[in-house]
Amino acid sequence: MSGCRIVRPNEFLELSDLSPEPPKGTDKDAVEERRDALLKELGELEDLLFFASRHSVLLVFQGMDTAGKDGAIRRILAGLNSLGVRVAGFKRPTEEELGHDFLWRVHRQTPRRGDIVLFNRSHYEDVLVVRVHGLAPPEAIEGRYGHINAFERLLLDNDTILLKFFLHISKDEQKRRLLEREEQPETAWKLAAADWKEREHWDAYQEAYALALARCSPPEAPWRVVPAEKKWYRDFAVLEALVEALRPYRQEWNDYLDRTGARAKAELAEYRKPKA
Ligand code: AMP
Ligand code: MG
Repeated sequence: MSGCRIVRPNEFLELSDLSPEPPKGTDKDAVEERRDALLKELGELEDLLFFASRHSVLLVFQGMDTAGKDGAIRRILAGLNSLGVRVAGFKRPTEEELGHDFLWRVHRQTPRRGDIVLFNRSHYEDVLVVRVHGLAPPEAIEGRYGHINAFERLLLDNDTILLKFFLHISKDEQKRRLLEREEQPETAWKLAAADWKEREHWDAYQEAYALALARCSPPEAPWRVVPAEKKWYRDFAVLEALVEALRPYRQEWNDYLDRTGARAKAELAEYRKPKA
């Protein structure tokens, strides 16, 4: 069972040819069992990450409206004890944010060592919605892919473990989910209308996504395409990628904590020695 499709550098995906469904024959019960085991392991790894504070973790979630960004984030949070966990959402930039470069508001939300931050939308909106609606000059948008790669390189060089998830759903599934939302009395009608309107730009969005995924998938920070048509598979695929990315550090963090503990003990013993 391996969930996500890792994008290769400059690989332009035809997203409509890529199945958003779980692989054929995937057993839901087995997947949910794996998911729960992964959630438990994630909690252990998070403790080590937090106490060792050698690395930070940044998870970027992108996807079309209704793709399940909130849902996937909620599921991951369920496995964390929240000592150093935070969600940062990115909406339409404020006047002040627009007065700066597009990475300004993003950089200040990045995790410090020991912490995990989950991005609900991200700096990628500046080459997605901004591209689709022409909210910045084309030359400015063109330059942003390089800025994004350099920015992410900076984070990686500073011990950030970075994972980027594109939650992939079909256009039909989006329609089903939008209709479903309408049935819920608590859903804001104004938002629903805006979502239907945005849906008219589906193809332009898919193309903007394919371009961003191609241009911003260096080997050290590739995009992962998550088959997100089924929520149970989406959550498993994201968790699996996250735990697999953290697991290799377990020994290092453990060793570091052992060394720090031994040093603290030695200091304490020294302190307790009777003074001459
Ligand atoms: P939601 O995620 O449903 O709360 O909606 C947030 C909205 O903010 C979405 O419609 C995004 O496209 C929009 N948004 C996020 N970042 C930007 C940006 N940099 N420029 C313009 N719109 C943005
Ligand atoms: Mg929305």
